[in-house]
Amino acid sequence: MDTDSSTPTESGLSCARCGKPAYLQCPKCVELKLPQEGSTFCTQDCFKISWSSHKLVHPKSKLANVRSAHSEQSLDGWLYCLKNGQARTSKLPHFGWTGALRPCPISKRRLVPDGVEKPDWSIDGIPKTELNSDLQNIVEIKTPEQIELMRETCRIAREVLDAAACIIRPGITTDEIDEVVHQATIAAGGYPSPLNYHFFPKSCCTSVNEVICHGIPDARKLKDGDIVNVDVTVYYKGVHGDLNETFFVGEVDEASQQLVRCTYECLEKAISIVKPGVRYREVGEVISRHATMSGFSVVKSYCGHGIGELFHCTPNIPHYGRNKAVGIMKAGQTFTIEPMINAGVWRDRLWPDGWTAVTADGKRSAQFEHTLLVTETGVEVLTARVPSSPDVFPWLKLNHP
Ligand SMILES: [Zn+2]
Ligand SMILES: [Zn+2]
Repeated sequence: MDTDSSTPTESGLSCARCGKPAYLQCPKCVELKLPQEGSTFCTQDCFKISWSSHKLVHPKSKLANVRSAHSEQSLDGWLYCLKNGQARTSKLPHFGWTGALRPCPISKRRLVPDGVEKPDWSIDGIPKTELNSDLQNIVEIKTPEQIELMRETCRIAREVLDAAACIIRPGITTDEIDEVVHQATIAAGGYPSPLNYHFFPKSCCTSVNEVICHGIPDARKLKDGDIVNVDVTVYYKGVHGDLNETFFVGEVDEASQQLVRCTYECLEKAISIVKPGVRYREVGEVISRHATMSGFSVVKSYCGHGIGELFHCTPNIPHYGRNKAVGIMKAGQTFTIEPMINAGVWRDRLWPDGWTAVTADGKRSAQFEHTLLVTETGVEVLTARVPSSPDVFPWLKLNHP
């Protein structure tokens, strides 16, 4: 930058990349009337370096306009999902619903452009390599080259989740979240891993209130006071990166805020013990101790998993105490930890769509997930928050003086 005598005025905001005081705002963001937060930078250099990830916030605002044009549109061609995504019906199925939430119709399948490298389930719904791989029995030690690819893909997955987080508010549908995830993923050159995985019909999972995990994005509008988990997995350069967060919709009651915060802490505490030599079964002990202490319970049916060239592989990492997981952590291994914590009982039920896991008592459930790398000295959180990640968790704001 040239040293003009007049100093540019500080906006009071910080650089979306490095956190230093910001002096300029992305012109595209100005044109699209996007919020200043996340669109300001300290220097042209930081702006240029951030561009490939920062630009992901732009298509979603174009989508915002498309969406408002769409919002009065009828649900022609939208149907309820049945049987693991392999069937559709026009009527709400019969089921002993455990809480107030009901499935809503889902939109038609979203397309992925020809140029994007796709996993082997994209056409017929069957992950053939994954089902037949040796990596279901042995935990792979990744090479430095594989690790570098994982870093890149996980960083994209993080940015995709952040783009979704930015649109969450009362009145938007979970299908609109799916559209943002889908568009941001393909804009980055990736494939949304959940799409058609074992016939899953959408590009991410959206789990509202009593949904524990694997909720299918649908026509339901988020309501003030809801909580919603968005689980994003991106396939890029031959590897997967997987993360999720639970967000507040408008003003959320105190009990739900505590549940979500406790779940966040459970993941943090679990990550803090990760290093070579630690037993995989220890993860569940740490999580279960913190959840129980806060009066919550831990889901047993769904676990963390190995990840890399495969979306799900060994190790299997339970989040509950006294589990029987085998093996110890070694440098170069990559896996997820993704505790699901319930306000009431730990037991789950499955909706007739074959995917949506809900709490047996209809009380709320929250989840957070990261993809992790075991290093020589500890752990690297491959899907960690970045300076541009939206400031949506009140307990993190306390750390900013
Ligand atoms: Zn996962
Ligand atoms: Zn996930």
